[in-house]
Amino acid sequence: MAVSRLLTDSTTRARLGPELLAELRANLWAVDCQTCGRGFGRWERPALTVQATADTADASLHHRGCRSPQWLESPTSDRRVFTDFPHATWRAKLVLLTGSTLVFLVNPSYEVAQLRRDSGRWRLATLDRFAAYGMGTDLFDGVIAQPSLSVVVDEDRMSVHITDKGAVVHSWHVSPLSPGIREAVDAKEWLTVGLTTSLDLHRRMPRNPMAKLIKARRMRLGAARTVYTQQAQLLSETDFGKTRLKLLGVSCEVIWRQLGIKVDDDLLIAALACSAGNSEMITRLRDRDKLVSALLVIMLYAAASRTASEQPAHGGGVHVMAADAAGVAQWFDIATATAELTGQTVIRLAAEPTVEQRRTEYLADIVVGTPEQFRAAYAFYRDDDGDWGLHETRGNLAMTVLEVQHRVGELIRRYPRVAVI
Ligand SMILES: [Zn+2]
Repeated sequence: MAVSRLLTDSTTRARLGPELLAELRANLWAVDCQTCGRGFGRWERPALTVQATADTADASLHHRGCRSPQWLESPTSDRRVFTDFPHATWRAKLVLLTGSTLVFLVNPSYEVAQLRRDSGRWRLATLDRFAAYGMGTDLFDGVIAQPSLSVVVDEDRMSVHITDKGAVVHSWHVSPLSPGIREAVDAKEWLTVGLTTSLDLHRRMPRNPMAKLIKARRMRLGAARTVYTQQAQLLSETDFGKTRLKLLGVSCEVIWRQLGIKVDDDLLIAALACSAGNSEMITRLRDRDKLVSALLVIMLYAAASRTASEQPAHGGGVHVMAADAAGVAQWFDIATATAELTGQTVIRLAAEPTVEQRRTEYLADIVVGTPEQFRAAYAFYRDDDGDWGLHETRGNLAMTVLEVQHRVGELIRRYPRVAVI
């Protein structure tokens, strides 16, 4: 329950009216006093202070001992008592709805509400300012990616940033991320961000709190593209749990049978370290040794490319980025030879692909190309009018060699896992 009981003065009651006061009680939460910054007692009635300048106002909660309930009127904004609310609380939560829809819910303002006066009547306007960033109140606004919104995954912390002219103007985060949540994040290219002041995100919530709030237009929605920090992209021993060693063992056997190459301890140890986020050893390997050691890691991640029913999984597949056509051919040949036995599909990005080729390219378990080809392919899926939702998410692991790392650019930040070898 939000603040069910508020201390108000007669001026505030007269100007705001009973309806808006009821709305404020449902959208303000007594966490910390906006004068002293300390918490409210459980049964305490907070005092409501409204500060108005012309047709805008803010309403804030205070201990009754810190500030009595009152209406403050300042002729200009520089004469305000409160210019800022340093004690204001926000809370965020990742909610996994039915299916695999993941929503980053934020209550951006617990103890402070913005009000606006339209044709003489005050109304609640806390979420209005987010319209400027393309966030709307319709359900469909939640699936339209906005350039000003982004989700940054950094180790086990996830942040939503709103940027304006290149500067971050709002930022909220959740931490830690459970493996299940991270998996759901990795299988998507973007997340829905939902802002509301009508929920306390630290309390138990209804199973799907959104439908009702969207209907009542008490939520602002937008979609944010996901980007990863380098730290979050490190390969991890936990990616495949106990099956990791078994899968690597099988791959060694396949390499022996198909290529006649015995994977020795050095190559295996380098691959093991690489698959645990440490590429030092594998970068020191040369030529065929490096290819073989890296192939073990590629085969490992390609194993998670499909669903249980053998369909291309959202967020699955390995993208191998080579320096030039000769490099691409090397990776393609070695991966194709082992794929004969494993059944994994390998594809090389076409120089000038047709739409039909685009339809299949990113669905392969292992895709090989130059960074420029990957950039073009991804741009195509992102910008073309067709339904490329699945293609856009593909590529769980990007593997690239040191020499081409600088050519990959921003594209690399969209991959959940990256190995530079
Ligand atoms: Zn106080």
